[in-house]
Amino acid sequence: MWINFDQLLDLPNVTVVNYQKIAQTIFLKLALLNETIECPNCHQTLDRINQTEYNLVRDLSILGNPVYLEVPRRQFHCQKCQKYISERLSFMRLRQHHTIRYESMIYERVKNCSIEEISREEGLGWEEVELIFNHCAKELEKEEWEAPERISLDEFSNLKGHKDFITTVVDLDKKNFTRCD
Ligand SMILES: [Zn+2]
Repeated sequence: MWINFDQLLDLPNVTVVNYQKIAQTIFLKLALLNETIECPNCHQTLDRINQTEYNLVRDLSILGNPVYLEVPRRQFHCQKCQKYISERLSFMRLRQHHTIRYESMIYERVKNCSIEEISREEGLGWEEVELIFNHCAKELEKEEWEAPERISLDEFSNLKGHKDFITTVVDLDKKNFTRCD
């Protein structure tokens, strides 16, 4: 039976062009299906690839076997801006060597078991697990603060009769607030 890796991976705009299993580790070489990207500065369509490097990116395991994706990281050139633009991929962050879904899985597991356990089971360094966890925590915090739909601004005096005011911004939907001094 033919295994459809593209379907199994379920990542946007990619196709698996090679499969290799070395010991218990699966390596999947990817190709990107989009031939152009949009310049984030001038919004022109870019089709001139300056260079392509392959990064080994850890993804979720398949049947208990660790999976590494060989991901093409492409750099385009924008003639208008005279800049080199690194392609952003929706399934991984720039300069990271794990997919976002892999990082989310590690983040969730750290909440329930010890870092040592995950480090041993996933074959990751202690610092790497900690780094992923802190990174995800920061991203989640950012998401929670992004684009509140309804906010309320309040200003009140710190001390009665004193000209020292504190401003608070409250996200009415999420009920969290921040203090702006
Ligand atoms: Zn441009």
